[in-house]
Amino acid sequence: MQKQALVDHYGRSLSYLRISVTDRCNLNCLYCKGQDISPMNFHPAEILSYEEILRLVRIGAGMGITKVRITGGEPLMRKGLCPFLEKLVAIPGILDVSITTNGVKLSDYLKPLKDLGIKRLNISLDSLNRETFEQIAGLDRLHRVYDTIMTALDMGFSPIKINMVALRGINDHEFGDFAQLTMPLPLHIRFIEYMPSSPHMLDKKKQILSPEIKQRLQRRESLIPVLPTNKSAVSETFRYKNAKGDIGFISPVSKHFCKTCNRLRLTADGKLRPCLLSDKFVDIKDAMRNGKDDSFIGEKLKQAAGLKPEYSLTVGNHNVMVPRLMSAIGG
Ligand code: SAM
Repeated sequence: MQKQALVDHYGRSLSYLRISVTDRCNLNCLYCKGQDISPMNFHPAEILSYEEILRLVRIGAGMGITKVRITGGEPLMRKGLCPFLEKLVAIPGILDVSITTNGVKLSDYLKPLKDLGIKRLNISLDSLNRETFEQIAGLDRLHRVYDTIMTALDMGFSPIKINMVALRGINDHEFGDFAQLTMPLPLHIRFIEYMPSSPHMLDKKKQILSPEIKQRLQRRESLIPVLPTNKSAVSETFRYKNAKGDIGFISPVSKHFCKTCNRLRLTADGKLRPCLLSDKFVDIKDAMRNGKDDSFIGEKLKQAAGLKPEYSLTVGNHNVMVPRLMSAIGG
C-alpha cells in the first residue's frame, strides 16, 4: 500500500492513531463522565477484539501511521493488554507506542511495559491532595498513583507526562505545587483546559483557560519557553530556571491546534473519529466482521481522513464541546 496515503483535504498527513481499547474505567472523574451518570458501557460484543485492532493498525501503518497511543476508558482495565501490546510494538512502521492511564493499576504493568520497550507514559493526576483527588476521581487513590509515578521515574520511563485538568474552585490552588514538582523531578506537567462533553457538563465557571494558569504561575517565577520538538506538538511548553522537568499548557479551548493536527481516533466500538470536536465518524467494525479485505478497510481509513474538518467551528469563540463522553472517545 502507498505510504502517506492518509492525507486529509487540507494537506495534513495523519500519522497518529489514538486507540481506545475500552470505555470502562476504574475512576469516575468529575470532568470526564461525571459522577452522577451511571456507566453505560459497551457490551463486550460491541468492542473490537485485539486482533481487529491489530489488523487496522497494520493497514494504517502501510498508509503512514507511525505513532499509536493506547487510551480508554482506562486501558489497563482490559484483560490481555500486554500480549496485545507485544504484537502492536512489533508491527513494521509503528515507531512510537505510548499509553495514557490514570495510574491506578499501573504498578503491575511497569515491568512488562519496560520489557516491551514502551517508555512513554501519560498519567492523569488532577490533585496532590488526598481529599481533592477523591473529590475529582471518586476514589481515594492518590497515594497509589503518586508512588507509581515515583517508581516509574526510578525505572527510567521517559518522558512521563502528568495530565492535570484545571478546574476552578477545585484544584486551581494546586497549580504552583504541580509546577514545583518539575524542579527536583524530570516530569512533564501538562495543564489541560477542561472541555465540556455531551451529555455531561460541569458548570462553565469551572473552566480555566491556559493564559490565566500561565499568568498565575508566572507571578511566582518566570517561565522560560521551550521550543517544540515536533511540529504536531499540542502543548506550549516552558520550564523554570534549573528545573529538571517542564510545564506545558494544552489549550483545546483557547488556542486550538487544528492546523497541525495529525490525529485519528479509534473508539473501543470500532469508530474512526477524525476530530474530537466533531460527531462525524466512519465505522470499521462491520467491515471487519463482514469479511472485507484490507484494501476495503484502507478505504475506510481514507474516508475518515476525508471527514477531518479544517478546524472546528467551536474554537475561537471558546464554546468548545466534545459531542460524546470522553470516556467513550478516549480523550
Ligand atoms: N483513563 C485514562 C486516563 O485517565 O488518563 C485514559 C482516558 S482519559 C479520557 C484521557 C485523558 O483525557 C485524561 O488525561 C483526562 O484527564 C482527559 N480528559 C478527560 N475528560 C476531559 C475533559 N472533559 N476535558 C479535558 N480533558 C479531559
